[in-house]
Amino acid sequence: MTERYKNLIGGEWVGATDAIRSINPSDTNDVVGEFAAASAKQVADAVSAARQAFKQWSQTTPQVRADLLNNIATELLNRKDELGELLAREEGKTRAEATGEVYRASHVFRFFAGEVVRVGGEKLPSVRPGIDVEISRGPVGVIGIITPWNFPVAIPSWKIAPALAFGNAVVFKPSELTPMMGLRLTEIVSRGGGPPGLVNLINGTGPVAGQALIENADAISFTGSVPTGRQIALRAIQRMIPVQCEMGGKNPLIVLDDADLDTAVNCAVDGAFFQTGQRCTASSRLIVTEGIHDRFVNAVAERLQKLVIDHALKPGTNIGPAVDQRQLDKDVRYMEIGRREGAKVRVEGRVLKRDTPGFYISPTLFVETANNLQINREEIFGPIAAVIRVKDYDEGLAIANDTEFGLSAGICTTSRKYARHFQANAQSGLVMVNLPTAGLDYHVPFGGTKASSYGPREQGRYAEAFYTVVKTSYVSV
Ligand code: NAD
Repeated sequence: MTERYKNLIGGEWVGATDAIRSINPSDTNDVVGEFAAASAKQVADAVSAARQAFKQWSQTTPQVRADLLNNIATELLNRKDELGELLAREEGKTRAEATGEVYRASHVFRFFAGEVVRVGGEKLPSVRPGIDVEISRGPVGVIGIITPWNFPVAIPSWKIAPALAFGNAVVFKPSELTPMMGLRLTEIVSRGGGPPGLVNLINGTGPVAGQALIENADAISFTGSVPTGRQIALRAIQRMIPVQCEMGGKNPLIVLDDADLDTAVNCAVDGAFFQTGQRCTASSRLIVTEGIHDRFVNAVAERLQKLVIDHALKPGTNIGPAVDQRQLDKDVRYMEIGRREGAKVRVEGRVLKRDTPGFYISPTLFVETANNLQINREEIFGPIAAVIRVKDYDEGLAIANDTEFGLSAGICTTSRKYARHFQANAQSGLVMVNLPTAGLDYHVPFGGTKASSYGPREQGRYAEAFYTVVKTSYVSV
């Protein structure tokens, strides 16, 4: 019988009536685990436990908090290969991608261990005599953390680390597709130190566990799709609690005539197709000027034929499977939609059979597409990209910005003038010059504009804005 993993509530591992199952997308015969699905009541209990822990944790010295974060960073680093393998098994990204993600998560915790002692304040003269004014930052309370499946270690880490660094307690709801990584991360975080209830795990479904968290937490940090984010933000606003939503993208990569062809092809293939296209920063729209168009399309098509799509843990695999049947069906649906709308298929994606039953799909490259097609408007989240031919940079920029999203935008060019203009005028939170639209550092802010993001930026020093509240004190002297 499959072991049923429990949730961590107030320092105790607690079972539940309902359960969710995690299946290996590279081999659907492999059940990664069965997990207790938290009830709404259990989520409320977890928030109460966190509130108790918060009383103590918010009073700890910066050194205590730094030590805890360093302990977590060290364990993640020491176990990156083992955890990377488990991540690849549960989510379907390749071993290299998965190990890199755990490594990055360790850096995130290490970074915030350093930030603990850098929380600043201001002291100003009052406009009135005999008064000092101080501006300081303090913790918010219990942070509800709701995360997607595509970076099941890194995304929770870049929320949990600043939450704890700035003196908050946490209730964490991982995606129902990656409960194992949520569990392993919680074990490591809870082993790092701190009072029972400081970090609580509530594996479960969005409508039950996620919804209950929004009803109880003091603030919500969410990463996921736009429809879910919109629903969460609306409820958070009704409750008047701070909310931060990082959501989808329809990220453009412009390739200009003067681009270095190899660089442009590398950026496109990596940005659009690696990690099975399942990245919020994936380049799904390739906007290419006339002079380089055919050479670029031919070179990308050639590279795509060489990619190995197979079991995530098999040596030599470049691209693992889609995460589940639903995502695979969605990819296939969009391949059909593109064809129906008149996009030309340059590389035809196929659902593939491999040694083990899994959700394997090869890349699709559409060409001669218009920006108003459904495949260019909606986030697909699969290994599907569409080329849009343009006459020059100006048309390319206008098309790049003609989208409801604004997460990442890239340009490949050797012209400093166009690169600088694009940096200033791309309507996105991230701009990449001669780099893939995906692939980020851990110490600088991350987030988008328009429908891609709502609320303060995540990561780096900018995380402080969400995980602290500002207090202004007037002191008679
Ligand atoms: P999703 O919106 O379906 O789910 C995200 C999380 O929200 C899950 O934990 C889910 O259980 C929970 N949830 C669902 N319904 C809920 C509800 N009613 N109340 C509370 N919680 C609820 O997204 P997904 O399929 O897990 O992830 C893919 C999406 O995430 C894509 O759109 C992708 O672009 C986005 N994403 C964004 C970023 C970013 O930082 N901008 C990073 C990674 C992924």
